[in-house]
Amino acid sequence: MEDMERLQAMLGSAKRIVAFTGAGISTESGIPDFRSPGGIWTKYKPIYFDDFMSSEEMRRESWRRKFATDETMLKAEPNAGHRALAKLVEQGRMSTIITQNIDGLHQRSGVPDAKVIELHGNTTYATCLDCGHRHELDPIRRSFLEGGKLPFCVKCEGIVKTATISFGQAMPEIPMARAQDETLCCDLFIVLGSSLVVYPAAGFPGLAKRKGAELVIINRDPTDQDDTADMVIHGEIGAIMSRAVGVN
Ligand code: NAD
Ligand code: ZN
Repeated sequence: MEDMERLQAMLGSAKRIVAFTGAGISTESGIPDFRSPGGIWTKYKPIYFDDFMSSEEMRRESWRRKFATDETMLKAEPNAGHRALAKLVEQGRMSTIITQNIDGLHQRSGVPDAKVIELHGNTTYATCLDCGHRHELDPIRRSFLEGGKLPFCVKCEGIVKTATISFGQAMPEIPMARAQDETLCCDLFIVLGSSLVVYPAAGFPGLAKRKGAELVIINRDPTDQDDTADMVIHGEIGAIMSRAVGVN
C-alpha cells in the first residue's frame, strides 16, 4: 500500500492518537529548527541553566539573543501541519499534542490549551524562577533594550526568565507526568519534525511502542529512532499532513 493510503488508514482506525512535535513542524512557519543547516545552533551555543543563574553577563546574553530572534517568532503564523493536527483534535480523534516547541503555534492554530503539553515551556512570556509569577515580554523588552535593565520579579524580586526549559534545567513535573499518561493510553503515536535526540522528551516514542501503540515518524531527514517505527515517511510535514487529514 502506498504510504499516504497507509497513513490515512492508520489515522482512520486509531481510537486515540497522540502527536509528538518538534521544531520541524514550525519551520514552514519561518522559525528555524535547531539542527538543520541554518538552524539556531549554527549561530548560537546554548546557555546552560546554571550559567544563567550564576552569571549576570549570561543573563544579559540570553535576553539579548531572545530579543534579537524574537521578531521571527512573533511574526510566525501556524501552518498546514499545525492546522491538520488541530483538525484531528477538534474531531476528537487526537487526545493531545505533546510538543517540544516553545512557540505557542499549536494553541494559535486553535487547539485548546488543555490539549497541548509543552515539555520545554513557552517563549512567548516569562516567569519568576522563585515564585512562578507570569511576566509579559513587552515591558521587559522595553527596559532591557532602552535602559539596559535585567528583569526582576515585581512580586518577590526573584530572577525572571523566559518560560522555557534550558539545558540543565529540571523538566516541568506536571507536563512530564501528563505526557507519560497520554503516551501510555494511546494506540497511535505520531512524531512530526523531531530529530529525537533530546532526552528525556525523546523517550516517549519508545514508551508508546513498548505499550503496544503503533508508531509513525514523519520527518524530512532520518531520525535516531526510524528503525523502531511501524511507518516512517520522509518529507515535508505540511504537505503530508494536509493531504492525510484533508485541510489546507
Ligand atoms: P531538531 O531541530 O533537533 O529537529 C527538527 C527535525 O525536523 C529535523 O530532523 C529536521 O530534518 C526536521 N524538519 C525540519 N523542517 C521540516 C519540515 N518542514 N518537514 C519535515 N521535517 C522537517 O528539533 P527538536 O527535535 O524539536 O529538538 C530541538 C529542541 O529545540 C526542542 O527541544 C525545542 O524545545 C527547541 N526548539 C524549538 C523551536 C520552536 O519552538 N519552533 C525551534 C527551535 C528549537
Ligand atoms: Zn517572584
